[in-house]
Amino acid sequence: MLESAQAIILKTAKEMELTDDVIKRLIEPEAVHEFNLPVTINGKKTLLKAFRIQHNSALGPYKGGIRFHPNVSREEVQALATLMTIKCSVVGLPYGGGKGGVVVDPKQLSEKELENLSRTYLRQIAPVIGPTVDVPAPDVNTNPKIMKWMIDEYIKLKVKNEKLKITSKNSKLKNYLRATLTGKPIAEGGTLGRTEATGRGGVIVLQSLIAKLNSQFSFFNFQSINNDSMINENSMKTKKLKTENLTVAVQGFGNVGYYFAQLAHEEGFKVVTVSDSKGGVYVRDGLDPKATLKCKKEKGNIGGCYCKGSVCDIKYGRTITNEELLELPVDVLVPAALENSINRENMHKIKAKIIIEMANGPVTEEAYEYLSKKGVIIVPDVLANSGGVTVSYLEWYQNVHNEKWSEKKVNDRLKIMMEKAFEAVWKKADLPAGGKKIPLKQAAFEVAIGKMVKVI
Ligand code: NAD
Repeated sequence: MLESAQAIILKTAKEMELTDDVIKRLIEPEAVHEFNLPVTINGKKTLLKAFRIQHNSALGPYKGGIRFHPNVSREEVQALATLMTIKCSVVGLPYGGGKGGVVVDPKQLSEKELENLSRTYLRQIAPVIGPTVDVPAPDVNTNPKIMKWMIDEYIKLKVKNEKLKITSKNSKLKNYLRATLTGKPIAEGGTLGRTEATGRGGVIVLQSLIAKLNSQFSFFNFQSINNDSMINENSMKTKKLKTENLTVAVQGFGNVGYYFAQLAHEEGFKVVTVSDSKGGVYVRDGLDPKATLKCKKEKGNIGGCYCKGSVCDIKYGRTITNEELLELPVDVLVPAALENSINRENMHKIKAKIIIEMANGPVTEEAYEYLSKKGVIIVPDVLANSGGVTVSYLEWYQNVHNEKWSEKKVNDRLKIMMEKAFEAVWKKADLPAGGKKIPLKQAAFEVAIGKMVKVI
């Protein structure tokens, strides 16, 4: 993962003819903090390996989540920190990139042990974080409750070490200190709109893409592409794309996948299939994500949700596997679960014409290249799933300025920022006369690195 993140930066930097010292600053992290956390698990004292890696601060404070997972490693944290630098820059945030992690399986911990671990980790990183220095957030296996423990610990430390006085009269100071972490519960200075933000940002990007394709008026004949055919200019001269005719498949039905599916459905797209780790359902005429989620909670899986009694035929909806979902002849494919789900094994069978990378790294480099050459439009993760960090920025902004925004204001700002980011990447990909068309991923990296290089 680290190798591939660095390889694409290197490739982009070379295309941009950057000097070696600038390239080095884009690749090497500015600081690597590594700790052994003393904690007690099941009554036994132990040391857990933990990290906070601060990759680049050219554009502002480091920003990135904290992950609790047994597979956390220095390499993984560094790769994720690097990608955060690119993501924040692409979407125009005044942030650099960072990431944290603890090598632990939180499912083995009691609630009290989890709280102790969260507070202990925070105490270790406290000297190197702060609203203008480094602003962590939740990631895999961390959530608003954990952020609540962490921000409480941070404020306690600040009060003690700097002899601050926080009273109901100076809530401004408390809110400012709260800007040290995002993804907090609303009552602790969190923002409205954060839960849906990543999915919402992805739908905004999809709508921006459709609008562009319609404005250029030279897009695929959506019926004409089969497994092996190349998408060529001749097959692109056609009618405008209508949202209600566009079929969407979403792999992953967690925070990102569910909200993407639900908001796309609300915007009029025809979501025909969704899945989770246990498999999925396909409904030819389109499904209702909210009802599907309710059913999943009742039945424990999505599979039988659209069956009538024991009948699960094409009329109502049929159960499908995750592999089948990826290979369906839909217009828009949204991998929102895992890394590398579209890879060497299945890339030849992908029939979608648009892929929105909502998970981090769901399309391998090899598959990205193969599908892009075939003419599939792939919106890269650093742009497509940046709605989450964008709303984290809006949370930070509200804390720093002692403000509290309505959900509508948050969503409106998100829309403006995502559309602007998409526009910049689209423009870069479609280079002016004489230039060549480049994939959106390369364009996104060029936009991001271009902004950083100006500052460096
Ligand atoms: P989540 O844990 O809420 O949901 C993950 C979903 O994927 C679940 O429905 C799970 O059942 C499903 N899944 C797991 N294995 C699967 C498999 N083999 N096939 C199909 N589905 C499978 O996680 P999330 O927050 O929705 O994150 C999903 C992805 O998006 C991750 O790659 C994450 O890094 C990325 N991401 C998340 C955010 C965010 O704000 N949550 C932001 C940016 C990127």
